[in-house]
Amino acid sequence: MNTSELPAREAMEFDTVVVGAGPAGLTAAIRLKQLAPDKSVVVVEKGSEVGAHILSGAVIDPIGLDRLIPEWRGEDTPIKTAVSADRFYMLGASAALPLPAALMPPLLSNHGNFIVSLGEVCRYLSRKAEVLGVEIYPGFAAAELLFENGAVAGIATGDMGIAKDGHHKPGFARGMELRGKYTLFAEGARGSLSKILVERFGLAREREPQKYGIGLKELWQVDPAKHRTGLVQHTFGWPLDNRTGGGSFIYHFDDNLVAVGFVVHLNYRNPYLSPFEEFQRFKTHPLVRDTFEGGKRLCYGARAISEGGWQSVPKVAFPGGALIGCGAGFLNVPRIKGTHNAMMSGLLAAEHVAAALGQGRGNDEIADYDAAWRASPIGRDLWRVRNAKPLWSKFGTLAGIALGGLDMWTNTLGFSLFGTLKHGKPDYAALEPAAKHRPIAYAKPDGKLTFDRLSSVYLSNTNHEEDQPVHLVVRDLAVQKSSEHDVYAGPSARYCPAGVYEWVEEAGKPRYVINAQNCVHCKTCDIKDPNQNINWVPPEGGGGPNYPNM
Ligand SMILES: Cc1cc2nc3c(=O)[nH]c(=O)nc-3n(C[C@H](O)[C@H](O)[C@H](O)COP(=O)(O)OP(=O)(O)OC[C@H]3O[C@@H](n4cnc5c(N)ncnc54)[C@H](O)[C@@H]3O)c2cc1C
Ligand code: SF4
Repeated sequence: MNTSELPAREAMEFDTVVVGAGPAGLTAAIRLKQLAPDKSVVVVEKGSEVGAHILSGAVIDPIGLDRLIPEWRGEDTPIKTAVSADRFYMLGASAALPLPAALMPPLLSNHGNFIVSLGEVCRYLSRKAEVLGVEIYPGFAAAELLFENGAVAGIATGDMGIAKDGHHKPGFARGMELRGKYTLFAEGARGSLSKILVERFGLAREREPQKYGIGLKELWQVDPAKHRTGLVQHTFGWPLDNRTGGGSFIYHFDDNLVAVGFVVHLNYRNPYLSPFEEFQRFKTHPLVRDTFEGGKRLCYGARAISEGGWQSVPKVAFPGGALIGCGAGFLNVPRIKGTHNAMMSGLLAAEHVAAALGQGRGNDEIADYDAAWRASPIGRDLWRVRNAKPLWSKFGTLAGIALGGLDMWTNTLGFSLFGTLKHGKPDYAALEPAAKHRPIAYAKPDGKLTFDRLSSVYLSNTNHEEDQPVHLVVRDLAVQKSSEHDVYAGPSARYCPAGVYEWVEEAGKPRYVINAQNCVHCKTCDIKDPNQNINWVPPEGGGGPNYPNM
């Protein structure tokens, strides 16, 4: 059936539509209601509930929360653990060199920050939003952009009940049109609609390419004797080689919980590298393994991180809407923090949208928001660290981190020896043909400290309706075979943290298998496929991971 033969979609009108119930989207929704209680705000969220798709560290800088909900410290919130100790190490295969706090640029200090489950924080924010009258619809993915006279006029949620082969199943229902005077896109890193908007409105023109990392995380309940409430520990170096950027985090919080995670910068070159296996290997380091002995792994997941910073943030406003949060790329890489800027951009955008609505405007460009962010605390936060990532990419971990540290120090004093460095190539173009590299031998998991992918995905509670069109759209299967497989040795089987992609031999020929139901929505394939041949589109709303508290 073609679209014109389908029943019409129902449409609902709002003053503001928000896509994504992460910290950016929920903050924007709350602020809009605080400023203009009579204006309607709706939030759509593709997770089955708020927080189901949220995965973060997370040590949060409360600057955004303090502005949004000044009274939060007196309330019952999921923000319970203040950072009490902050450690950095450079790792070798069996050694760990502590980096003295006095050497660290002050902007990296975690004093005054809190260790949280960001999913829980989002649930707290959603309760605040609902009390103010925000309508929140979890389980609905914004699948399509609506345009009117060249301006964004809202979104449509995806149709439900389409079978894998395209036919309509008995429960078929059309999506809803949510029309808004303004639509704020808060989809997080590599948003599927944000990507289309950047392209359509040329928002990234004259900007450096956006850069990304993949962050993998496990949540553990550890032996109480090994728990150090409030301890924050970061490492870089081993198990990654000097040319591969990334590092780890370990955060001790709440009741004997430890969040352990590993980030690999997606500009890595070796197609044999597996971020998942590097993470597992990292946990075997003598500095680390003891924390988890006798503990229990509770949850697993992964999510991309936007790492381009100042140079890569696209134009954030366009007719009818704006990008906020990590969808705009406001993450501060050396701090591995994006929540505060996600919230600050939600606040800033909401203030400009409320003013425009107050003037009776709609579906035009919120140009003031675009003009304002660089001079705001978000801009100041990103400006001082703008060279850290390019220096790391150019000079490798040892020299790059030292130079990045020097640059952050001088920026704290108001100048830089480097100006503003470029990032260069997008991440997918950094991958090199397999012939230039050797396969990496990873150890078998022991099932106690280290694990395989499938038992890990099980702990993400991922669930998709199986009989639906595959949401990982390979544009040209012939290219996948002739290039991804033949030239790059099938890196998707290694970079995907959920084991979605496999090359299997059938009658002596390789066949590409996509286990789409395992997808944890990290977006890495959309970023790293060497030919940009994989397009991540939202599956039926409610599908994906069900993170309880990541
Ligand atoms: C491993 C890891 C560790 C991190 N550690 C820290 C840390 O310690 N401190 C810190 O401050 N930051 C940290 N970050 C970054 C932080 O998580 C992000 O900066 C922050 O979550 C960005 O908020 P956001 O609202 O922009 O996007 P997100 O938190 O990604 O939220 C986006 C929401 O939108 C929904 N969505 C997306 N597309 C659609 C659609 N089309 N339709 C409907 N819903 C949609 C998603 O399901 C999700 O709920 C970390 C990130 C990772 C991955
Ligand atoms: S299929 Fe893509 S988005 Fe899904 S988990 Fe794998 S890499 Fe991430």
